[in-house]
Amino acid sequence: MNKSSITKIGVFTSGGDAPGMNAAIRAVVRSCSYHNVETWGITRGYEGMIDGEMSKLGTRSVGNIIQRGGTILKCARSDSFKTKEGRAKAIANLRKHGIDGLVAIGGDGTFRGLHELIKDSGIPAISIPGTIDNDIAGTDYTIGYDTATNTAVEAIDRIRDTALSHNRLFFIEVMGRHSGYIAINSAIAGGAVAVIIPEEHTSFDSLYTLLEQTGKANKKSSLVVVAEGSRIGGAMELARMVTERSSYFDIKVTILGHLQRGGSPTYFDRVLASHMGLAAVEGLLQGKTDCMVGVQHGKMVLNPFEDIMNGQTHEIDREALRLAKILST
Ligand code: ADP
Repeated sequence: MNKSSITKIGVFTSGGDAPGMNAAIRAVVRSCSYHNVETWGITRGYEGMIDGEMSKLGTRSVGNIIQRGGTILKCARSDSFKTKEGRAKAIANLRKHGIDGLVAIGGDGTFRGLHELIKDSGIPAISIPGTIDNDIAGTDYTIGYDTATNTAVEAIDRIRDTALSHNRLFFIEVMGRHSGYIAINSAIAGGAVAVIIPEEHTSFDSLYTLLEQTGKANKKSSLVVVAEGSRIGGAMELARMVTERSSYFDIKVTILGHLQRGGSPTYFDRVLASHMGLAAVEGLLQGKTDCMVGVQHGKMVLNPFEDIMNGQTHEIDREALRLAKILST
């Protein structure tokens, strides 16, 4: 039973989209319904909030979406929300419709925006981490990361199937401008010889030496997974550097790009999003605000925005990195 004063919760998706966001929207709507609270869907994130794009969502309106990638509420970036005037328009629209609680699904930019909105309006708000990069402090997993990594692994498997000739060297670039999570785990699961991530400096010389060794070890093909935020260059750049040094390798490059953002979410992302949606709604109804739902050591938690935004990062898993290196020989 809902004993809080909240009667209408607005939900929106913002920043970059991620598979599983729809499952989170569905969970928010149905958890609200269970607690006798109305849900309002705000389309196009903060931009839609400023433009007054919001309407009531019933439990039936989120049927048949749990398995769909993307987001039915659409994502957008909004420069005007960064201004006090922009936020004032958004707040006026929320008040006009009586929205007295918010759930935001997005990345750290979205959280920063929400923090400002709470400061300006006092409207309680909780966020849910939705980003394929898994780069948010305060949670072991973000919605979309598992799906994106599975997509990368499937692509790596397909690329490996074509690698029948000797000395073929593949550079496969995966998403992760600041985070090597997708790269490390797709490298382990895809059996790569090396992984290059933004968090760790790898010199080109050491990479080249490793590739020479694997060539001499009679490997039929070598796959190198490169995160897009690699400090020594992306897949194209690395391929060019190797070609300049030697004609020994037959080099191929694949950049997976936005392929990793789409597709049906995995069971893991659907379940994670469902738990997070319920936790966000129940957190608001228990009087929590200015915090993010996370999963830590298998349990749902609520961490204050201040802690998450205070320069903290989701540290890369050093043991996974060590594992990738040991098993690649
Ligand atoms: P993500 O949420 O995926 O990190 P962005 O960084 O693009 O994506 O942030 C999403 C939106 O959040 C931005 O377009 C902007 O409207 C809002 N936002 C980000 N930072 C701030 C801020 N410091 N103040 C107010 N709004 C912000």
